Amino acid sequence: MGPMASSRRDLAVRASVDQGLLSPAEPVVALLDTEGVRASAAALTSAFAAVTDAPVLHAFAVKACPLVPVLRLLHEAGLGAEVASPGELALARAAGIPPGHTVLDSPAKTPAELREALALGIAVNADNLQELARLDALIASAPTASPLGLRVNPQVGAGSIGALSTATATSKFGVALRDEGARETVVRAFLDRPRLTRLHIHTGSQGVPLALMAEGVGETYALAEEINRAAGRQQIDTLDIGGGLPVDFGSDEETPTYAEYARLLADTVPGLFDGRYRLVTEFGRSLLAKHGTVLARVEYTKTSGGRAVAVTHAGVQLATRTVYAPESWPLRVLAYDAGGRPRTGDVTVQDVAGPACFAGDLLATGRALPLLRPGDVVAVPDTGAYYFAHHYAYNSLPRPAVHGFTADEDGGVTFTAVRDAQTLAEIVAESGGRHADALLRRTGRSAG
Ligand SMILES: *Cc1c(COP(=O)(O)O)cnc(C)c1O
Repeated sequence: MGPMASSRRDLAVRASVDQGLLSPAEPVVALLDTEGVRASAAALTSAFAAVTDAPVLHAFAVKACPLVPVLRLLHEAGLGAEVASPGELALARAAGIPPGHTVLDSPAKTPAELREALALGIAVNADNLQELARLDALIASAPTASPLGLRVNPQVGAGSIGALSTATATSKFGVALRDEGARETVVRAFLDRPRLTRLHIHTGSQGVPLALMAEGVGETYALAEEINRAAGRQQIDTLDIGGGLPVDFGSDEETPTYAEYARLLADTVPGLFDGRYRLVTEFGRSLLAKHGTVLARVEYTKTSGGRAVAVTHAGVQLATRTVYAPESWPLRVLAYDAGGRPRTGDVTVQDVAGPACFAGDLLATGRALPLLRPGDVVAVPDTGAYYFAHHYAYNSLPRPAVHGFTADEDGGVTFTAVRDAQTLAEIVAESGGRHADALLRRTGRSAG
């Protein structure tokens, strides 16, 4: 066995400086711990294999880390992909994920998107009854191998982050089962459509307690049983239980674990695992978050109103949620010296600021850290999902490079390019550079 995750991170920070990945010219980079990603994929697979012999497709929620090499790595580890847009589907296809391992969920699928998915044979979970009617028409004109399902919302309630709770009374997702007459309508919709064989639920992400996730799955299982009884056959053969396992952003612990969740499901919804249903999961954050780290150089330090402030190159462009909603999305900040060695010694209360031109661009406020100096390195761990892969183009700050890394027993670190840094030419091109004169031309009827 090689070094532990936190030691691998320390080695990678040091090696990033030594090997010139992080430099005054390239003051921010993102790292992905390849071994860690593999370990999480294996933990997920074995957690479910320990509680059921039923076939399980673990479809990685692409939105959590939409990077082709990551999807390819997960594919090699036996996982599939959950996609929710034409872009995400294109990424999954570019990674070589086969249609049979791909699931399309999205609340706003266009007819063209549906047609493509049906032509490819990708599983489609309809979000609502209008979409089911649309699917009826498409299937009537072009037969498909796609398994078809319906997303339901059992309205079991919210977790601690409202924006990420998808099973509330008024959520925009799925068919709200507790609304008047809705349950009967859903059962009827299945009986009218023998091709409809799946139910889908995703109770929410980060902040939703395991017990609430299990309750949502239990409600969905009960509905499947009800539909199958009414149909007089096993019409529903697959339950897609979504993702949402929360991540501990406060330490290097990986809690809760997939094994805990799988055991909780086995205890609370035993019928789920007795072999009558195939299963699909859609975990995102819990597979990647712990394995990503942003490194940024400290450009300047100052005091302001008596408070020490370190101005770094990591801010709102990489940690958008943290900067705009710091109470819901706190991140750790780790201090290293200019050589990439952990800074030790007396701590001072400091703000760690990003590079963007607005006052709120702070990664951390009032954080006790060894006093940072210009040229030092800050590492922001737990950013492998929904952070550096979700660039926000404020101030035209470039998307940073992403490097995968592995560390061997002797402490040697090998990096490999996952995504190149965005170039200035690309920024200009994506900002209308080709149309520089577009607003100068007078077209149509003029007043003169
Ligand atoms: C976002 C999402 C997921 C993944 O959620 P995580 O919290 O990242 O595990 C899974 N399924 C659906 C439908 C989603 O919208």
